[in-house]
Amino acid sequence: MTVDALIVGAGFSGSVIARLLAENTKAKILVIDSRDHIGGNCFDYVNRYGIRVSKYGAHLFHTKRQDVWDFISSYGTWEPWEHKVLAKVYPRDGCDEFVHVPVPVCIQTIQQLYDPSIENEEDMRRWLAEETKNVINAGPFKNSMESAVARFGRRIYNDLFRDYTWKQWNKYPDNLDSSVLERIPLRYDRDDRYFTDPIQMLPSCGYTQVFDQLLDHPQIEIKLSTDYFQERHCFNGVQFTIFTGPIDGYFASYGLDRLEYRSIHFEDFNINVEKNDAVVQPASVVNEPSMRVPYTRTVEFKQFLNQQSPYSTLVREYSSSFGEPYYPVPNDRNMELYSTYQQLAVKETGQERRSVQFLGRLANYKYLNMDQAIGNALDHWEQWKKEGLFKTML
Ligand code: FAD
Ligand code: UDP
Repeated sequence: MTVDALIVGAGFSGSVIARLLAENTKAKILVIDSRDHIGGNCFDYVNRYGIRVSKYGAHLFHTKRQDVWDFISSYGTWEPWEHKVLAKVYPRDGCDEFVHVPVPVCIQTIQQLYDPSIENEEDMRRWLAEETKNVINAGPFKNSMESAVARFGRRIYNDLFRDYTWKQWNKYPDNLDSSVLERIPLRYDRDDRYFTDPIQMLPSCGYTQVFDQLLDHPQIEIKLSTDYFQERHCFNGVQFTIFTGPIDGYFASYGLDRLEYRSIHFEDFNINVEKNDAVVQPASVVNEPSMRVPYTRTVEFKQFLNQQSPYSTLVREYSSSFGEPYYPVPNDRNMELYSTYQQLAVKETGQERRSVQFLGRLANYKYLNMDQAIGNALDHWEQWKKEGLFKTML
């Protein structure tokens, strides 16, 4: 097959673009991935206990963007699912008693940890005003510690965020961009859902089925277990390349410092719970914000969409500097270095007849939720169409 467009990476960024190209042009498209499966980090499968497990950590779809939902909901089948998370907190040092409290912080979190008399939004605002009364920094915030302490006060910061963040990033929040903890909202009411987006869904038969359908098109060929850098010489004549892997990997030959990423080591174990509907922990995800255990959270996959099995599969997440790149680490050093890579990318994109576009979470060195990765691909497609990028393939 002669290839007009090469797409490196079969995650949402690459697969959405592959589909759009296939439907709107005559291009012959090749999608490659170094892994032996499609779906990128959203890949899931049913394990031997009949439980659907995500290989790279739990993935909950949520979005405010109707266009994203209109697009993605036509692939696979989806059903509503509102995610809830509990954090296991040890309120007293040196004591083994713990409580499970909702995250993000809402009225129930404060009631259970600090003050049972908090009943309504007014109480909550008063309580938080008291907690933060000595905080003089009103922003702009230089790092995640400043922004979190200003919103939540010291106690919540210490109990819920400081050590979890250390375990997750190997950095305390004062060494991370404020955006990291700004992801976590603060609620003045009793809404204990993890997300408040109007669209919150899970694919009934898993994300892999969504990808199977996205990539199922006569103009799309898929080659797995194929690393771009090892096979690059085969693709010299390709008109367009869309690269969704790590940007510093693409420019490795320039000898610049490498960007920093966090990886996750997943440890799974299966428990015979005997009954089909029995579960082990009080929520599908239990966060561990204390230093008493080295892992950040435990996911019980059976709880998503109330799957039935006499077993339960639990997966603990240990954050690590080694392994596959999952999370870009947003701090000044990395963002500065990324802007150097970005300049190289702009030059590369501009090269005639060898146009390379950099798309997605790793190529843009930016934490993107699934809906943002899909939305970003849809937006780029519109932009590229306006620029006439694919006009030779129409
Ligand atoms: P990826 O899915 O990473 O796909 C990139 C692909 O490129 C990979 O398959 C990789 O193998 C391939 N590739 C890289 N380099 C090469 C190469 N040299 N040659 C060939 N192939 C290559 N988002 C949510 O909305 N909700 C969640 O609950 C959620 N949970 C998450 C939990 C974890 C632990 C992580 C890490 C992410 C989570 N996300 C979540 C984010 C979600 O995974 C991303 O939005 C999504 O994966 C981005 O898609 P992508 O295509 O940009 O990147
Ligand atoms: N976080 C925390 N305690 C928690 C949950 C999150 O300190 O109980 C911090 C941590 O630094 C994390 C960030 O908030 O990286 C964003 O959390 P989120 O749940 O969005 O992370 P993800 O699910 O993407 O790993």
